[in-house]
Amino acid sequence: MSIKARQWILNMPEYIPGKTIDEIKKDYNLKKVYKLASNENLYDPDPGVIQEIYKNLKDIKYYPDSQCSEIRQKISEKYNININSIIIGNGTDQIIEMVCDSFIEPGRNIVISDPTFLIYEKSALKCNGKVIKVPLGKFRQDAEKLIASVNDKTKVLFLTNPHNPTGTNINYEEFDYIIKNLKNDILLVVDEAYSEYMAEEDKVDTVSYLSRYNNIVILRTFSKIYGLAGLRIGYGIADSKVISALNRIRLPFNVNFIAQKAAVKALENESYVNDIKNKIKEEKNKYYRVLAEDSIEFIKSHANFILIRTGRGSDVIVEELLKKGFIVRPGKNIGLPGYIRVTIALPDVNDIFLANFIEIFSSIMGREKA
Ligand code: PMP
Repeated sequence: MSIKARQWILNMPEYIPGKTIDEIKKDYNLKKVYKLASNENLYDPDPGVIQEIYKNLKDIKYYPDSQCSEIRQKISEKYNININSIIIGNGTDQIIEMVCDSFIEPGRNIVISDPTFLIYEKSALKCNGKVIKVPLGKFRQDAEKLIASVNDKTKVLFLTNPHNPTGTNINYEEFDYIIKNLKNDILLVVDEAYSEYMAEEDKVDTVSYLSRYNNIVILRTFSKIYGLAGLRIGYGIADSKVISALNRIRLPFNVNFIAQKAAVKALENESYVNDIKNKIKEEKNKYYRVLAEDSIEFIKSHANFILIRTGRGSDVIVEELLKKGFIVRPGKNIGLPGYIRVTIALPDVNDIFLANFIEIFSSIMGREKA
């Protein structure tokens, strides 16, 4: 191409998405393919939500509600917070982008863990911001090092709880330490995309901090446990002044009509969320058990995915899994070479995945099956 894109675009790290099911079917001549690479909830969405979508289809001729009033109202009731403290995005991705667009001036920086979810870095670079990366310590975000890395140019510190790609958590003491030691002109964004999968006793009640700190942004999404990733809808909760800044750059119809209707309905059925959470917990325990039986290392996860150590055989293991129809996320694409990240699926799929994985792992790593 002879037309050169702007330099910052050329400097951007590329997001490497998992291959699609159709691509793998074609490439490997397979009839059945399991996509375990993007951490969707692989159960069907709540039937009530699907019904709501059908019910509203004829009204897609209208523009959606620009203010997302109905869904913001529902969220405000759920958390008992002011409706002006809530913003809805085309996925939380978009809110992350809006935060950087609104708060990162050229030369200012964000502090993130390394590795972490790539969109934080991409969004900051787009604003000509700098990125300070703090290595994980034992697969966990390191509260003390994150705070020690903040400098007078820092505008945003991003936390992910549970963390992606490791599935580890930030506990109360760590969160408390971070917010107490962060100057209040620096935003603390807590990305809780997978938090509904956490055990109640492990959750940090970040919303309860909002009355004391006006520099916290909490991110939640309907893409994960609610099973609505394809609709693209997530939300942010923060001080109304922060939300008002984000609203200034928000495109008027950033969230589509069907997504808004579906999300409202989804919030009316919390038993769906509990049911999925319990099922995934049981299946995660199965993973732990089966992997441990074969002495395969893994990281215990608070989310619906698991990081498995594949060592020097990683590339070949990923390729052999693809031949069997399993798409997993190679760790080298997400900053963790020597590991694969696998989405926890339905019980029968998990069973056949584990059987195949252990067979492949054992033969590639030259081990006898225990
Ligand atoms: N945060 C984290 C940590 C994620 O893993 C993801 C999805 N991969 C997102 C945010 C984005 O979610 P959404 O679909 O709401 O844009």
